Order: sequence, then C-alpha cells, then structure tokens
Amino acid sequence: MFLFWFECDVKWGIALFSSFPSKIRVFDTTLRDGEQTPGVSLTPENKLRIAQRLDELGVDVIEAGFAAVSDGEMEAVKLIAAQGLKAEICSAARGTRGDIDAVAKSGADSIHLIIPVSDLHIEFKLKKTREQVLQITRDMVKHAKAQGLIVELSAEDATRADVAYLKKMFTIGIEAGADRVVACDTVGVLTPERSYELFADLRKALKVPVVSVHCHNDFGMAVANTIAALRAGANQFHATINGLGERAGNASLEEIVVSLISLYKLKLGIKTQQLYSISQLVSRLTGVYVQPNKAIVGENAFTHESGIHTQGMLAHPSTYEPIAPELVGGTRRLAAGKHAGSAGLKAALAGMGLAPSEEQLKEIFQRVKSVGDKGKTVTDADLLAIAESVLGLSVVKPIQLLEITVVSGNTVTATASVRLKLNGKEVSSAAIGVGPVDAAINAVKKAIAEVEPIHLEQYNVKAITGGTDAMVEVMVRMRKGDRTATAMGVREDIVMASMDAVLGCMNVLTTDYNNKGK
Ligand SMILES: [Zn+2]
Repeated sequence: MFLFWFECDVKWGIALFSSFPSKIRVFDTTLRDGEQTPGVSLTPENKLRIAQRLDELGVDVIEAGFAAVSDGEMEAVKLIAAQGLKAEICSAARGTRGDIDAVAKSGADSIHLIIPVSDLHIEFKLKKTREQVLQITRDMVKHAKAQGLIVELSAEDATRADVAYLKKMFTIGIEAGADRVVACDTVGVLTPERSYELFADLRKALKVPVVSVHCHNDFGMAVANTIAALRAGANQFHATINGLGERAGNASLEEIVVSLISLYKLKLGIKTQQLYSISQLVSRLTGVYVQPNKAIVGENAFTHESGIHTQGMLAHPSTYEPIAPELVGGTRRLAAGKHAGSAGLKAALAGMGLAPSEEQLKEIFQRVKSVGDKGKTVTDADLLAIAESVLGLSVVKPIQLLEITVVSGNTVTATASVRLKLNGKEVSSAAIGVGPVDAAINAVKKAIAEVEPIHLEQYNVKAITGGTDAMVEVMVRMRKGDRTATAMGVREDIVMASMDAVLGCMNVLTTDYNNKGK
C-alpha cells in the first residue's frame, strides 16, 4: 500500500492530474443498476448467463444484484458468487444492518454500500441530519468490514452534495475501513469540466486506493463525464452494457472502453471482440432494443448505405469507419438501399457470387432505387431477387418450405415441425420454443443446422395496421460465417411472416452463384 501511494504521488507531481491512472478498473453494474431499467427483470439463470459473459469479457467487478431486495435477487447473487468466476462479485446494499447482513449471506466478495449525501436526499428521503448520516457511514462500514466484505462506499447524489461534506463522509468511511469510494452522479447533472474538477479534488483529498466514478446519462454526457473523471485520476468506473439503467440509463460500458482504447490509446484488460455479442445477449434477455444508431454496438454502427460512403469504404475502410468492426466483434455491412451507389451494390452482389455486366448493374441499380423511393426498405433478399430477375437466373431457392405445423396454447409447450427441401433433398425436424414463432424458427434452424450453420442475429416485428387481423412485418438479420444478410416477411400470420423472412435470409446466405451471372 505504501509503495502504491509513493508511485502515485510521484506520477501526479509530474503530470499534475492531467493524465490517466496506469490501471483503470472496470466495474460492471448491468445486473444491478442496469436491471433497474423500467420494465426489466432478469431471472437468476439469465443473470448468471450474462455474468459468465461479463467474466469472459474481462471486467474487474460484476455487481450481481441487490441481495436484500428480494428472494430472487438473493438467489441470483448467491448463484453467481458460487461460480468461482475471475471477476469480483459484488452486491449493492443500503446503509442498514439488514442489507449488509444479506450481502454477507449471499457469498459476494464485496459490498456496494450506498449512502445518500446530498441535503435533498438526507432531508427528504432519509429524514435525518448530516451528522446522523456520518455516524451511519462509520457504523455501517465497520459492520460490513466485520463481515469480511470488501467495502466500496458509495455516495449517492454526490454531484448535488456539498463537496466539503462529501469529502468528510468519504474520509470517515475510509477511516472506518472502506477499501474504495465511489461518487455517484445519480441524476446525471455533471458536465465533463465539473467532473474533472470534482474527481481531481477527491483524488487529492482522499487516501484510498480506488476512487470510482458512477455516471447517469440524463443529458447524454455519462460517457464524457466518466472519461473526464478518469483523466482527473479516478481509477475505476461503473458502467452497463448498452448503457442500460434507470431513466436515460447509465454510462455505456462499450462506449467508454472503446473510447479509452481507440481515442486515448489506453490499455484495458477487456476482450473488446466480445462487445457486440454480449450487447446482443443483454438486449435479448432484457427485452430492451439497442437503438440502431447506438455507438459501437448499434445495428447501423458499421452499416453503410450512401453511395459516396460505400465507394470510399470499398477503396479503403478507414475512409468512413473510425472503428474497425472486428475490434468489437461487429460486421461491416453495405446496405442495398436507395442511397446505395452502384459500387456498393456491386460489392453486395459479389458477396452472393454475382458479377453483373455494367448494363445489368445499371438496371439493378435503377430497380433498387425505385423500390426505395416507394418508401420500402430494400433488404439483401430484395436485392438478390432483383438481380436474379435482371440476370435472368432461375429462381429455384436452395431452401424451400414444404410444410409447417405449429402447436401452442396455455397447457402445451409451443412445438413446431417443419418439412423443407434443402438443395433438392427433403429434410424435416421438430423443435420447441417459448412461443410459436420461436418454435418455428428453432425447427427450421435445426433442420438445416447440419448443412448450414446459420445464426439469427436480429428479429424485429411490427404490426403495420391496427387490429387483430393486422399485417405483420418481420425483419431479420442472419449470419453465416462472416457474411450477414437481411430479409423481410409481410403477412397477416406472424409465424408465416417469420418463416418468409428467415427462409428468405437463409436463401441469400446459402446462395452462391459463383460468378455464373456473367
Ligand atoms: Zn446509478
């Protein structure tokens, strides 16, 4: 410990708080603060699935839940703590003996001990005085330490608190044994400038190995505020996958990590290649969609449609791509929309093994534009269909649906059986699912899995018109190796719309004309 301080003092003396700490710890709170997103509730099993992926990703701390809140939360923390993961497992707690004892019982390594510090919270929420809160801090830190827990003392609403009082509260906590402190921007009111000032001040005033930052995104500045705090000397940040969290969410883990690595050239022990897939998993299990234009992991983050951009991209990816998709496990996609240029379409068609002549390409280009001008999304399946028609190719699809039966209801497990023609050969399969659509897709995937390992990356559904007989539009994106494709299905029947989309997409991915189109 002495050595640590000596090193830091020397470094600060030179850098004067203007550089990043040499080691930055990543505290993930997807399963606690992220789960507090309205409408989100994860089962212990699903929390475990996410925790395992977070551990592989390489985060230092996984806040698994709030042990005292419910039996399910206790079970989740217990389950995750019992896995022997590399990451430290933490549980949140309020400043009460009951909450702390629950954390100790859960088997977690550490406690995120949350104590309000703004007068607003002390007066109206706790109905206590500042002095009483200091006493609570002292007693509760000691109590948690006596249970053998690593204590991360958390000042709630720290950014609206009197700074002198905040420092006093932290100092008392550190004297009582707190191992780390975290100042929370609970309502997201920091600016990067204020964040830098506050954390430089805290770092200077507090003798504690870890000062952490916890930001919310109410003004869209959570990532910037987190980075400013780290630059001021904070050496741990709290964040969530996809920026999940209450109201506008928490600081997004993937955005902070990739910014620190790409823009500030720092080294973090995070396996960034896993960010895209973990983002998808969290989105699927929480039911919270990732907005398409979300930085780093959004569907459009590496998609290019406009002709000018696509042309540049094909000449050299760096022209319009600040982050290589491989860095985060994403895939570059050239979309075939009405903004696409002929170079982009040519590249997309080449991916399907098609090499149209200049004349043919011009015709395909015109048809794609006219579909787009009618306000319709041009999927890869549409592009293939247009190209096949222009090139006069036979349209026998590699995969054809011969028969599908789906059973669902309140007393049966949704089950589907399918019969398909795959490259002229008949295959059949049956599968179960959480509902009829899931069962149907599972059955198709199973039937063709041996021949074609194709993964469903995204499934979106919307009702185009109102009423129970509404037209349903299903859009899917699937991946085979490093190739992805999109397709759409529109019908009154959601299962059939899904089948159209999934089989359409699979057909694009299994079609390889091997340049026979010439
Ligand atoms: Zn929070």
